[in-house]
Amino acid sequence: MAFYEYLGNMHMHTPYSDGEASHREIASAAQLAGLDFVIVTDHNIWVKGVEGYYGDDGSGYVLLLVGEEIHDRTRHPQVNHCLVYGANQEMSHYASDPQALVDAVGEQGGLSFLAHPFDRKIVWQPESETIPWVDWQVQRFTGLEIWNYMSCFKDILVTPWKTLRRVFEPEKAVIGPRKDTLAKWDELLTDGHYVVGIGNADAHGTRYRIGLLRHTILPYDYLFNCVNTHILTRAPFSGNATEDAALIYGALRHGNAFISYGMVGSARGFRFTAQGDSGASAIMGETIRMGSGVTLQVIVAQRAHIKLIHQGEIIAEEMNVENLTHVTSQPGAYRVEVWRAYEGIERCWILSNPIYLETLFS
Ligand SMILES: [Zn+2]
Ligand SMILES: [Zn+2]
Repeated sequence: MAFYEYLGNMHMHTPYSDGEASHREIASAAQLAGLDFVIVTDHNIWVKGVEGYYGDDGSGYVLLLVGEEIHDRTRHPQVNHCLVYGANQEMSHYASDPQALVDAVGEQGGLSFLAHPFDRKIVWQPESETIPWVDWQVQRFTGLEIWNYMSCFKDILVTPWKTLRRVFEPEKAVIGPRKDTLAKWDELLTDGHYVVGIGNADAHGTRYRIGLLRHTILPYDYLFNCVNTHILTRAPFSGNATEDAALIYGALRHGNAFISYGMVGSARGFRFTAQGDSGASAIMGETIRMGSGVTLQVIVAQRAHIKLIHQGEIIAEEMNVENLTHVTSQPGAYRVEVWRAYEGIERCWILSNPIYLETLFS
């Protein structure tokens, strides 16, 4: 079956919270970067009346949707940021109770993702804020923000001098998502949970002054070329915002999606699939029932280092290839990482969502 692939970013801010660009400016930046959709997520406010297709200047259209990033402002530090998509109403009154929030979002047919779950301080700025997820007893959330570029950027600011250099060329220092986030994902998957992974910009477009120097840290158009999420749908976008939003939320809900780091190259066309011996097949996010075995296949558009991961362990890997095939009869979640050199250093390029293998009699 053929799938339609769309590229989007789902975490950014406007002046409704602590961002600089308007919804219209975000749509233009997304269009320039070649994104198909964006979901704007201001802190604790669901902004009405701006959703829809933007762009009639000939460079293509982008669908702008509105979600929300919710946390309890009265809690210090202000941890537990939760990205909410598709709830279609204000949900920030649940901020003080993350489990109530996740459940209320679910009841509204929406999706909840734990944002930057392992955020750390800027090491040379002890007073800087750290805003990880801390309430790990929370259940029933849709997934994790596996790669947040803004949070990851803070990790490379290891000294004041390096900070000054990195703000001008962050792409030289960013290698991949945080290892502790990947480890948590593997832990949850190994425990039998279905956990969707997404990657985002967390764009704010904040302007800084350092002496005479004025600089916008990580502008929107730059970030939209960095960490994004691709979705796979069974039907193409129709151009109707409501219908296409339903396709996006459906793909995200099921994890029919993968994360890419655009600086390393375009990841469009990446596929991770499973074929069972009874003719069954699955794509990322789906479950396949095994008979005697399942064949997992990975395809990438350019030669790269492909790793197949099961329960936190690399069970197959190939260097400098465009595909990888592996036959297995072990149940559980399988996910793929693809690494590739950029500026002389191997970096994380693609992170798949898992395919879940179940035994026929479980
Ligand atoms: Zn946040
Ligand atoms: Zn944010």
